[in-house]
Amino acid sequence: MQYYSLQHQAPNVSFREAVLKGQAPDKGLYFPEELPKLSKDFVESLSSLSKEEIGTTVMRPYVGEDIPEQDLKKIVSETINFDFPLVKINDHISSLELFHGPTYAFKDVGARFMSRCLGYFQKEENKKTTILVATSGDTGGAVANGFLGVDGVEVIILYPSGKVSPIQELQLTTCGQNITALEIEGSFDDCQAIVKQAFMDQDLNDAYNLTSANSINVGRWLPQQLYYFFGLQQWDQRQPPVICVPSGNFGNICAGILAHISGLPVEHFMAACNANDTVPVYMQTGNYQPKASTPTISNAMDVGNPSNFGRILEIFGGKATKLKAQLSSVSVTDVSTKSTIKQVYETAGYLLDPHGAVAYRALEDFQARHPDKNGFILETAHPVKFPDVIESLLGIQIPLPENAEQLNAGNKVSIQLPATYEAVKKWLLGR
Ligand SMILES: *Cc1c(COP(=O)(O)O)cnc(C)c1O
Repeated sequence: MQYYSLQHQAPNVSFREAVLKGQAPDKGLYFPEELPKLSKDFVESLSSLSKEEIGTTVMRPYVGEDIPEQDLKKIVSETINFDFPLVKINDHISSLELFHGPTYAFKDVGARFMSRCLGYFQKEENKKTTILVATSGDTGGAVANGFLGVDGVEVIILYPSGKVSPIQELQLTTCGQNITALEIEGSFDDCQAIVKQAFMDQDLNDAYNLTSANSINVGRWLPQQLYYFFGLQQWDQRQPPVICVPSGNFGNICAGILAHISGLPVEHFMAACNANDTVPVYMQTGNYQPKASTPTISNAMDVGNPSNFGRILEIFGGKATKLKAQLSSVSVTDVSTKSTIKQVYETAGYLLDPHGAVAYRALEDFQARHPDKNGFILETAHPVKFPDVIESLLGIQIPLPENAEQLNAGNKVSIQLPATYEAVKKWLLGR
């Protein structure tokens, strides 16, 4: 498989190079040259296949010749060695729980797949690769955990001081080894802007082999398709589901749409956003107007200019009517998110995290207009990652999952820096 840049000013590359580079030299996102079609047989027999078989079959064409079959099988099975249960909340809405991985958020799958591919490719490189990544909360933990101890790769995470939850902070600051956390005295937008500038800086590119580990990287973006296959594997209704995805950078939902283009039956996609409504506004007006991000209680979706939306437009060839037939996007307020967490907990006994609650609200509202359409939400994080919101709202304490208890024993180690590019560059060049 070859990948082209969405800016069309850079040469095509194979999967290997797309993973190693992250972004094309013309700053475009890489996009697969063909969208593979899966056989009807495969799609109809999902429920009798293992997760590993599904994972390898779906990823095979995207990886191409760059990783041999046996190695790909091993990478896939290590990536997905935990559960992805589809849990019924009520007669119309189920929850595909994507938080059973090591850092309790869905980003584990992308980070684990990418780290193992990079580790595989790195064996033939003679220079260490440095991953520079900005996080609003969950990416940092997933990337730190996924890359911990991978030979030839070091990870530098920029996170906004005081703006991630306590568990999120422990997950990114207690790893040690090849993982370094930079605590930036600013916002997520500041962290993101610093990382973007670093990729364009010749001095840094001379000193480091830099790559990204956010969903811009195809190694992180593409394996997210697997959730949708695992969801359909457990879907036992005749009509295909409406799938509602809490969205920030739009990598996850874009992967879902790819899965659908490859043959997975899905009735309709919904991208549920918080107050950061750049895409919902675009869907209504046709006007794409990126803006500064607004802080909300679903902080992993606080994105004002979603990087992967360009990939969604590419899938539909820029045709707005085609796009609108398959995808709706709505914005949900914090007030409504909170009342949804309370409503679902009190009526169904199901505890949503703020991100899942945004999706639940959007899907239930959709069903009020389309009462015959059942579906599921992607529950992207464990509620324990957001104790402040949930404990004050419901007056309950969420018990820590078993492994999370170990986190409290770790010591936070971070390097505090002002939110300026100069400060970070100086630190990077001075180590
Ligand atoms: C990252 C994240 C999202 C948003 O996913 P995108 O692929 O960026 O749209 C949603 N929920 C949680 C919990 C996340 O960590």
